Amino acid sequence: MRYKKSKELFVKGSKHMVGAVNSPVRAFNTVGGNPIFIEKGKGAYLTDVDGNKYVDYVLSYGPMLLGHANEQVKTEVKLALEDSFSFGASTEKEIELAELICSAFPNMDKVRMVNSGTEAVMSAIRLARAYTGKNQIIKFAGCYHGHADMLLVAAGSGLVTGSLPGSKGVPKDTVSNTLIANFNDIESVKKIISNNNNIAGIIVEPVAGNMGCVLPKDDFLVELRKIASENGILLIIDEVMTGFRDSFGGAQKAFGVEADITCLGKVIGGGFPVGAYGAREEIMQMVAPLGDMYQAGTLSGNPIAMTAGISMLKQLKEENVYEKTNQYVNKLSNFMLDSAKKHHIDITVNTFGSMITPFFTSQPVTNFDEAKASDQTKFTKFFWSLMNNGIYIAPSPFEAWFVSSKHGNKELDLTYKAIDKAFSGLS
Ligand SMILES: *Cc1c(COP(=O)(O)O)cnc(C)c1O
Repeated sequence: MRYKKSKELFVKGSKHMVGAVNSPVRAFNTVGGNPIFIEKGKGAYLTDVDGNKYVDYVLSYGPMLLGHANEQVKTEVKLALEDSFSFGASTEKEIELAELICSAFPNMDKVRMVNSGTEAVMSAIRLARAYTGKNQIIKFAGCYHGHADMLLVAAGSGLVTGSLPGSKGVPKDTVSNTLIANFNDIESVKKIISNNNNIAGIIVEPVAGNMGCVLPKDDFLVELRKIASENGILLIIDEVMTGFRDSFGGAQKAFGVEADITCLGKVIGGGFPVGAYGAREEIMQMVAPLGDMYQAGTLSGNPIAMTAGISMLKQLKEENVYEKTNQYVNKLSNFMLDSAKKHHIDITVNTFGSMITPFFTSQPVTNFDEAKASDQTKFTKFFWSLMNNGIYIAPSPFEAWFVSSKHGNKELDLTYKAIDKAFSGLS
């Protein structure tokens, strides 16, 4: 592969952009070298500015579940553009997307659209505090919930990859109400609850995706639900990544739990900036204009973004997308394990729906410490071998790979070949 033009753009972009990226996870700090610049995408493929073609497993970090440049989304967005781009007043489309979302989640009578997952979570926390009249929040090490100040502690991929313990510029006071528990460790939650009496909410990624894909153990989520209810604490389930990932619904459905407040993002915007938070009636009543918890947005419920979201969700509902993506991930997982065994490489593969992460370790990965114990030097070599063989994954061992409905047998074969080659180069 030649990366000539990407290298030129990186130099050019570094002048007026920070690190030539608008989000740090796109930088190649962990794996070295400079990021590729993308020219276009279609279906399961990306083409970079040097004309290299890749099978894309980043999929914009999750939103592009129907692959790139989905025809139906494209057609509907083009039509919608004719009627202008933003009004600052309500449109029927917002109702349609709200109906689709509420139909897919338990305990969600009302939903508020925002512009990103970060905003959704930030608002959900404000809402939990408003509803309970309490201030503290329990979060889990390695879970990422966007970049709001109070949540930038022990926050997973982007921060681990940059080796930052948290972030500069976050006042101690702001995070003093954030209490950190360990994912899959219900005792660590109980301990925090017994030592604190001002807890408004527990926020969790039901399947962690920001320390790589890490599944909840047996009844971890059910237990969390129980403890939260018993102690008058709201359970905030952050489904920004897991929402509409393994079925037309969320991880709540897969694991038999119900959130008090659910956060969404990524898939629901079909590639446009949309986030959302929703809850049952009595909680959402707190939100302005019905209640006294203020939260607003000039572009919230943007008609173009709503159009893309509706088109996306309708297709997910009507077509047999999940059977296909989930099967693809199972095959990929089995192949990775077999090929690793053949080349005497230690790996553990975690999957949820259309998400998959191989960790270079012989041990199970059930929390942040175990994820961090995987071999990152091996990952770097693996990453570059895949890149050079036309497979694009996130430049961090702590991210999930995403699969779209456009990934099929041909892409699977290309991926198998590249993985086998990469593993053979590692052994
Ligand atoms: C991506 C993500 C966020 C943040 O969403 P943005 O749209 O990037 O602000 C929050 N929570 C989870 C679980 C995520 O995966």
